[in-house]
Amino acid sequence: MAGALTYLSAQPLPAGTLVRVPLGQRELLGVVWEPPGQPAAADAATPNTLDPAKLRPIAAALDALAPLSASWRALISFAASYYQRSAGEVALAALPPQLRDLSSVQLARRLKKKAANLSKAQAAKVSHGTTSAACPEASPADHAPPDSPLTTPDLVALTPEQTQALDQFHAQSGPFLLFGATGSGKTEVFMRCTADLLAGSDSAQALVMVPEINLTPQLEERFKARFCAQYGEDAVVSMHSGLTPAQRLASWLAAHSGQARIVLGTRMAVFASMPHLALIVVDEEHDPSYKSQDGARYSARDLAVYRARLDGAKVLLGSATPSLESWYHSRPAAEGGRYLRLEMPSRVGANALLPLVRRVDMNHQPKGCVLSPPLLDAIGQRITRGEQSMVFLNRRGYAPVLSCADCDWKSNCPHCSAFRVFHKIDRTLRCHHCGFTERVPRACPDCGSLDIAPVGRGTERLEEQLALLLSDMRRPDGSAVRIARIDADTTKLKGSLESQLAQVHAGEVDVLVGTQMIAKGHDFRRITLVAAINPDGALFSSDFRSPERLFGLLMQAAGRAGRDASNTSRSEMWVQTFHPTHPLYETLKQHDYPAFAASQLVERQQAGMPPFSFQALVRADARTQEAAQAFLNSASSACDGLPELAPWREHITLYPAVPMSIQRVANVERAQMLLESPSRAALQRFLNAWQPTLHAMRSQPQCKGLLRWAIDVDPLLI
Ligand code: ADP
Ligand code: ZN
Ligand code: ZN
Repeated sequence: MAGALTYLSAQPLPAGTLVRVPLGQRELLGVVWEPPGQPAAADAATPNTLDPAKLRPIAAALDALAPLSASWRALISFAASYYQRSAGEVALAALPPQLRDLSSVQLARRLKKKAANLSKAQAAKVSHGTTSAACPEASPADHAPPDSPLTTPDLVALTPEQTQALDQFHAQSGPFLLFGATGSGKTEVFMRCTADLLAGSDSAQALVMVPEINLTPQLEERFKARFCAQYGEDAVVSMHSGLTPAQRLASWLAAHSGQARIVLGTRMAVFASMPHLALIVVDEEHDPSYKSQDGARYSARDLAVYRARLDGAKVLLGSATPSLESWYHSRPAAEGGRYLRLEMPSRVGANALLPLVRRVDMNHQPKGCVLSPPLLDAIGQRITRGEQSMVFLNRRGYAPVLSCADCDWKSNCPHCSAFRVFHKIDRTLRCHHCGFTERVPRACPDCGSLDIAPVGRGTERLEEQLALLLSDMRRPDGSAVRIARIDADTTKLKGSLESQLAQVHAGEVDVLVGTQMIAKGHDFRRITLVAAINPDGALFSSDFRSPERLFGLLMQAAGRAGRDASNTSRSEMWVQTFHPTHPLYETLKQHDYPAFAASQLVERQQAGMPPFSFQALVRADARTQEAAQAFLNSASSACDGLPELAPWREHITLYPAVPMSIQRVANVERAQMLLESPSRAALQRFLNAWQPTLHAMRSQPQCKGLLRWAIDVDPLLI
C-alpha cells in the first residue's frame, strides 16, 4: 500500500495486528498492513530491499486483540482509494480514539476485565436457561420463570406486505432496497431480518445504521427489547459521536470481539470491526447525513453496499423516499438494475391512511400573513379535540437578518459572506457559519437610526406568533394552549432533546414548532396535522438535488402524522406555497414517490446528471478568492500536458473554478471546481493519477495564500 511505513518486529505479526510505533518523537497507533516478509512489495516507488539497520522497531504490539480482518482492511483500502485519502487516515479515523492512548498493558487489563464480566453474564444466562447452545440438555422454556424479564417478547403478526418482503429477503442475495411508506413497518422488517440471520448462526452479527444520533436511543430501545432477552444485555451496542471515549471503546471492543451481536450506529459505524458480519441495514438510506462532510468524505450508505460484498453479508437499504441513485439501481434487473426492490406501500393498521395533503395558495391569503387563516383554523380544531399539530420551518433563530429602514444597513457577518441571525431570546446577532456573536445594537451602527427591524422569520419568531394567534384557544379541559419548540437552539444541552420529545409523547404539547429536526423518524403517536410553512425556496435552488431533498423532507414530515391507527379522523399534511400547481406538490399530494422519481430521472438523464454521470469536486480554501481559484484552474490546465492522465482525460469534463455559494467563512475564501464523467472508473483513475499534480501545485507562486484543498467524490452539495 502506498504511504505505508516499515518497521521491525521481533516476532512475526499477522496482518491486521494493532501496534504502537515510533514516528519522530511521538508514538502512534498503527495497523500491520502487509503480511510479514513482504515489506511494501506492492509499492513500486520503494526499493524492495530495505536495510534492516535503518528500520526502527515497533514499540509494542496490541496482540491481546485479535487482528483486524482482511475484509476490514480491504474496506479501508477501498474507502481510502475511492475517496482520495490515505489508508492510514481512514483507518485511524475508523478506530475508537481511546485506542490511541492505551498502552498494550492497559488494553490487556481492560480486555481481561471484560472477559470476566462476560463469563459472569453467561453463567447467569445459563442459569436462566436462555442459552440452549451452552447447555443443550436443558430446555430453555422449562427454566425460565414465567414473568422473567428475559423471556422473548411477543411478536406481532406480520402484515402480508411485511411477510412478502421478508420472504424475498431470505430467498435472494440482494442488495435490497426496502421501499416502504412511512409507518409501513420497516423497522419491524429490519428486526425480523436481524433475528432470522442471528438465529441461523452462533456468531452472526448485524449492523443497523440510522442517519441521526437523535434517532439511536429510540431504535436502541426497540432492539434491546427484542434481542436482549435472548442474547444478553451486552448483545446490543451503539456507536456514534455522542458517546464518551470510554463508551466508544467499549462498544468497539464488544463488536470486534464478536460479543456484540448487534451494532446500532450513525455513519461512522460502517467502519466498525465486526468479524462475523451477516447483515447491514441502512435505515432512511436517502438521508444526506450518511455522507461525511470533512476528512474522508465517504458515503456510509455506499460503503455499506461495498462492505456487504466484501464480508459476504446481506445489505438492506430502507426508505419511503429513496435516493434517486438507489432508486435507479433498483429498477428491474432486465433494465440493468442491481438492487432488488422490496415494496411495502401501505401503512400498518386498517385505518392508518397516509395523510391528506392540502396546499394553501399563499397568493390568495392576506398579504404578509405567516400562517394562513385556513391553516390556523385547522390547528385550532386539533387543539379543541385534544390532538397535536406539528409546524415546521427550516430556519432557526428569530429572524435571518436585521435591517435598518433608513440606510439599508444589514446584519452582515464581518467574517463571512452571510447575514448574522437575530436571536431574540438573548438579544444577539449570531453567525451560523463562524459563530461570531454580538449583542444586538440599540441603533443602526451606520446611521444611528433606531428603526432597525427583523426581516423574515425563523422558528423562534414563529413560536412567538403562534402563541399570539392561538392565545384565545382552549384545550378540551379548558386550559391554555401549550406550544413547544425543538431546534438546534433548544436542544444544546445533553438530554434536552429527549426530555422535550418525552413531553410531546406524553401529550403535554399541543403545537410543536421546529426545524427539520422534528420531521425525521420520530414515532409520534398523537400528531394529526403537520404543516410546512414556507418550503418554496428549494423549488428554485441552483442545486440539482434540492427538489429531491425537499420531496423527501415533506414526505418524511407527512409521515409524522396519523401514526396511531386508532385515531379515526384522517390526518393532514398542509403545505403553504406560492406555487400550488408545481409538479413536486402534485406528486406529493398523491404520495407518489415513483412518479416524482421518474420525472426527476428524466431530467437528470437529459442533463447528464447523477445517477447518469459521476461527479467529484475539488474544493480550495485560501486567503484570497484569486488564490483559491488560481490553484484549481492551474491544476486543471496542467491536466492536458500530463501523459499519465491522457487515457482518462477525454472522458472527463472539467468545469472552471467558481466561488462556493457562501464564498467566505471565518475570513477564509472558498472556491470549488466540478469534474464530471459518464464513467465512474474513468473518474476514479483520473483522480488517482491527478492527485500528485494537485499536491505539487501548492508551491506555485499564483497559489500563494492557499490554505488547504480537498477532493469530494460523489458530492451531495454542489
Ligand atoms: P416505519 O419504520 O416503516 O415508519 P415502523 O416500523 O416504525 O414503521 O412501524 C410503525 C408502527 O407500526 C410501529 O409502532 C410498529 O410497532 C407498528 N407495527 C409494525 N409492524 C406491525 C405489525 N405487523 N402489526 C402491528 N403493528 C405493527
Ligand atoms: Zn442605518
Ligand atoms: Zn461569520
